[in-house]
Amino acid sequence: MQLSIFDLFKVGVGPSSSHTVGPMWAMCRFLKRLTRSGFLDQVERLEVHLYGSLALTGKGHGTDRAVILGLSGCRPDRVLPAEVVSIFNQVCSRKELVVGGRIIGFDPVQHIGFHHFETLPRHPNGIRVEAYSSDRLLDHREYFSVGGGFVVEEGEVEAVALDANGAAPPYPFTTAIQLLELCNLNNLTVSQLMLENELSIQGDKQVVLQMLDRIWQVMEESIERGCKQEGILPGGLGIRRRAKSLFEDLKSRPEAALRDPLAAIDWVSLYALAVNEENAAGGRVVTAPTNGAAGVIPAVLAYYMRFMHGASQKGMREFLATAAAIGMLYKHNASISAAEVGCQGEIGVACSMAAGALAGAMGGSCEQIENAAEIGMEHNLGMTCDPIGGLVQVPCIERNTMGAIKAINAARLALRGDGQHRVSLDSVIETMHQTGIDMQSKYKETSQGGLAVNVVEC
Ligand code: SF4
Repeated sequence: MQLSIFDLFKVGVGPSSSHTVGPMWAMCRFLKRLTRSGFLDQVERLEVHLYGSLALTGKGHGTDRAVILGLSGCRPDRVLPAEVVSIFNQVCSRKELVVGGRIIGFDPVQHIGFHHFETLPRHPNGIRVEAYSSDRLLDHREYFSVGGGFVVEEGEVEAVALDANGAAPPYPFTTAIQLLELCNLNNLTVSQLMLENELSIQGDKQVVLQMLDRIWQVMEESIERGCKQEGILPGGLGIRRRAKSLFEDLKSRPEAALRDPLAAIDWVSLYALAVNEENAAGGRVVTAPTNGAAGVIPAVLAYYMRFMHGASQKGMREFLATAAAIGMLYKHNASISAAEVGCQGEIGVACSMAAGALAGAMGGSCEQIENAAEIGMEHNLGMTCDPIGGLVQVPCIERNTMGAIKAINAARLALRGDGQHRVSLDSVIETMHQTGIDMQSKYKETSQGGLAVNVVEC
């Protein structure tokens, strides 16, 4: 499966790629379908049914809000975080929805069903949406939010990225070994190969570079915004935002960095905290490759840009391209959905992507990049998803700091070697996949096990 770099890095809103961004896109697609079939003007009632993990953690992850926003015609990449709250509150209080320019009755309590004990066969994140005129069913569709904001509908296979003529990019790969062979055969680095592929998909080098710059800009903005906000995160857990006070503390003691050789770690943790507090608050972040893990890659990339000698805009672009290559391997051969494989598929994948990307940005060979990505996942194997209260807050926010630090360590370990190592990236991806299949569903974004049941919520 060849994807675009911008399938792995998408601008969206928090708190969840599979539970917020994906369902919002699914509703947008259903509206488009109604428009094409000519049914939109006849719709008098809409019903949405959430299944499996979407039902179990949908409240905490904002799925009902995402459904309402999507049915109101909002796209995750364009809607302003402030609009999200106002549109949601308006629909809840008026019990009305504006669909295709007309007002119809819509009571979220009555018209969004949470089916806690049912799962649709294709994927644990299932949505069924039905459109009625009076009591006549006009149309219905099942959508599956398969992780990272990707959505497929019933009967559909996942889309691949092709060029304007429908041809595959010049260097297609599905495994790490293929990627390494292609790089060596064509004398390309991983990032060069990825940028060649992306050029064929987008058709214009400047467009590709601008899109990469935009991704980093949104990442940086989420760090900056997160460092300025304070107070309690929404959702009822009472979690206080920490990034601002940490930022002020670090800023006020620059001399501490001279005495403490590991002071940079505090800054990396700060960047990750800032992004994921923004995500938890429903703010604008880059899905990278998911929202729960949205802080790992920005934190490691900010570390590269702000702490590494010789860092450059070119290096930033190469970092993102390399990270995307690694993310594609997981997407194709395993999963980036916590509902399928637990947190290995979120923080674990983000850590692996960031590790390989940093190794590349630090001048590592293709083999060292592969080694770093492998180390990044190997020590996240088995990690469960057990968010307290179904919110993307505990353990999620802090876990991003751990993923970022681990990624830096993985890159440094790989760069100390020559790229030769015992466990291949392909083997560790397969191991992650099998571990995810074996994992009990209570540890897969259902909040029925782990911390979610052992910590009192209030
Ligand atoms: S525990 Fe991990 S996978 Fe689960 S919601 Fe939090 S960050 Fe996402």
